[in-house]
Amino acid sequence: MNYNDNIRPELINLKPQLVACRHYLHQHPELSAKEYETQAYILNFLKKEGIECKEMGTTGVIGTIHGAKKGKVIALRADMDALPVTEKTGAAFSSVKDGVMHACGHDGHMAILLFAAKLINQSKSSLKGSVRLIFQPAEENIGGAERMISEGCLKNPSVEEIYGLHLWGAYPTGEIRTKSGPIMATNNEIKVTITGKSGHGAMPHQGIDSIVVAAQFISSIQTIVARNTSPFSSSVITFGTIEGGSAPNVIAPEVRLRGTIRSMSDEDKALLVKRIDEVLKGTCQAFNCQGELEVVHEGAYITLVNDHQRTENVLKIAKNLVGDSLVGEAYTMGAEDFSYYANELPACYFFVGAGNEEKGIIYPQHHSKFDLDDDSLLIGTEMFVRICGL
Ligand SMILES: [Zn+2]
Ligand SMILES: [Zn+2]
Repeated sequence: MNYNDNIRPELINLKPQLVACRHYLHQHPELSAKEYETQAYILNFLKKEGIECKEMGTTGVIGTIHGAKKGKVIALRADMDALPVTEKTGAAFSSVKDGVMHACGHDGHMAILLFAAKLINQSKSSLKGSVRLIFQPAEENIGGAERMISEGCLKNPSVEEIYGLHLWGAYPTGEIRTKSGPIMATNNEIKVTITGKSGHGAMPHQGIDSIVVAAQFISSIQTIVARNTSPFSSSVITFGTIEGGSAPNVIAPEVRLRGTIRSMSDEDKALLVKRIDEVLKGTCQAFNCQGELEVVHEGAYITLVNDHQRTENVLKIAKNLVGDSLVGEAYTMGAEDFSYYANELPACYFFVGAGNEEKGIIYPQHHSKFDLDDDSLLIGTEMFVRICGL
């Protein structure tokens, strides 16, 4: 089945505008909680379409489309922020802002939701219920979802279910993937400080070498996921930075590590924290030095759990659109603050393939050469419109 045959003709006709919209947003990326120009662009687009909309969450936007018929209130969400990455795609529509890039595809998410809104609004005489549009800032680190929820994005009218998507470079265009239950991880940044005692590099017995202790600690924690968490559950511990010492012939008095921990459940994440702390304290005790673990709560998200019934419905819609063979299961240890909406209401979050080897679109999310296959925008838009029953 060629999925293009199943995209509604009105959307096929809009493709040049849809792609141009994404390219414009791509050229003008803004960092988390600084999406002012993006917000103005979205408000302007929705107002031109005659869609009721307003600012929310400082740099976010909500809109509402009321159908002519009775039915439930569904929310569709797109995130808005870009990343502190210097773009190296060489694309004609590359970022015009130094060091800022839409390297996660949120430009595509906004274009999809804008054009889905346009199509839904044009069909509101057959729409059952209402559709709440949520353009949410600050997904990448600050957690804009919680702010939008606290400011009432799920109220007036009271939203009954919510859907979100991520364009995903690891899957080819045409594929749609999701599953019910946990689909994205809960995460925390962690900071570890190991404090020994400085001394001359030629006289190690007079100091306490924090680098040797750090090496022992890093090796030991590799057993936590291998030997403490269940083989049937998923967890990750990664240290991304290590720093310590000031000269090659001086015993380093302190080593600092920063990392991330991820799990598919709160219980597993609590176990990781407990075991990292125990291994740290035990290792430091053995070497007669001090170890401190700090769990950072900013930018930490809860597990994203999909509702069974809504996910079954999304899978059915996806199969009708792209065919059974292109629909499958997926989950990732990435974290996503859509989890906070899913914690409030029945929700389904799904991945829309956006990679394309033939077009050279092969780089992963957050990479300086990350790009989206623009054909994926049609699939995302069509999915959102069909989820609204149109
Ligand atoms: Zn991202
Ligand atoms: Zn993202």
